[in-house]
Amino acid sequence: MSSLLHAMPGLILVALCYACLCAASPFGACRKCKGWGFAIRQTRDGRLKRGRQCRRCQGYGQRIRVGRRLYNAAVRLHREGTR
Ligand SMILES: [Zn+2]
Repeated sequence: MSSLLHAMPGLILVALCYACLCAASPFGACRKCKGWGFAIRQTRDGRLKRGRQCRRCQGYGQRIRVGRRLYNAAVRLHREGTR
């Protein structure tokens, strides 16, 4: 228990940093297509060709961060609660 209390300031700091990151850039590049929105294929003669649309981000190339999603959900809850 005491070790958990000891770790709390660090955890709070990490959470704050993550919150700042989410506030600064709510979208992150899709990890699967690296933000392209589609897969890149290489043809036999060495040229790069646009492949299929990325299924993970539906071609947007960007993914909303989990933290931002939580933030949006929290804001919605707050609005509904204070109406
Ligand atoms: Zn993608």
